[in-house]
Amino acid sequence: MDRYDATEIEPRWQRVWAQERTWEVSNEPDERPDYYVLEMLPYPSGEPHMGHLKTYSVGDAVAHFRRRNGFRVLHPMGYDAFGLNAENHAINTGQHPRESTEASIAEFRRQFRLWGVSIDWSREFATHEPSYYRWTQWLFLRMFERGLAYRKEAAVNWCPKDATVLANEQVIDGRCERCGTVVEPRNLEQWFFRITDYADRLLEDVHQIEWPSNVVAMQQNWIGRSEGAEVVFRNERLGVDYPVFTTRPDTLFGATFFVMAPEHPDVLRCSDSPEVAEYVRRALTESAEERGAEDREKTGVALGATVTNPVNGEQIPMY
Ligand SMILES: [Zn+2]
Repeated sequence: MDRYDATEIEPRWQRVWAQERTWEVSNEPDERPDYYVLEMLPYPSGEPHMGHLKTYSVGDAVAHFRRRNGFRVLHPMGYDAFGLNAENHAINTGQHPRESTEASIAEFRRQFRLWGVSIDWSREFATHEPSYYRWTQWLFLRMFERGLAYRKEAAVNWCPKDATVLANEQVIDGRCERCGTVVEPRNLEQWFFRITDYADRLLEDVHQIEWPSNVVAMQQNWIGRSEGAEVVFRNERLGVDYPVFTTRPDTLFGATFFVMAPEHPDVLRCSDSPEVAEYVRRALTESAEERGAEDREKTGVALGATVTNPVNGEQIPMY
């Protein structure tokens, strides 16, 4: 038997697939049922690694399996080109981010073809192209017009030297990963989406999706609806009312303290103590999992301020 000669056989078939556009599908339906295969889109920073080969060869096997079983399979490719990875890659290579991103995309494309992944290349896109992000902007404007996107103050990680907001992943041991400066919390206007408006509909419709029951339960807990009452605690000094949701309004007479989320903008208004700023800074750099861990000891620092308990008029301390 002849030895398998990859350098002769593979380029020959890659040429055939490119010439006959084997993996392209039209927008017009035909008699076959549709099937959509999408691995997550890669971040084009640097070159593909073994993790990419693993992910896209598994997806490719699924695509081929469905084709052999009579499905019309759409297996597209795109690049998630904005964000931290692209930014850091440009800083590391000293290139303009467009150049480093597009060089990286060219390398991904070359290797995907080399691996023989059955992609419909006629649909390739990258999120940094104006032809793509004009649609994310269009979507954002529709949400803004309907009041679903809004600005609100919240505490963020701030590097005073780089004069920029940092993602949690960019804060290492409380310091900026780029310049090593100690990160500080700062109140800034942020964009938020009013996703809670959809909580009831999401909860009702989650049963219509064919997902494993543990994933459905995870979604239900994440949306998290519970029945209860809203009561208002007032901070007289700031003149601010804090509506608080409780499932047990009968226990309000026993309330002995009032806790603010560390990123609440009023925390830094209530107190200018360095201890409070340090606590907020630490909390901001922790992951949601770390902060929410059930078995974890509860911590907090006194703000030196009080709110009025609405059921008995008592002043209780804020943390
Ligand atoms: Zn910095």
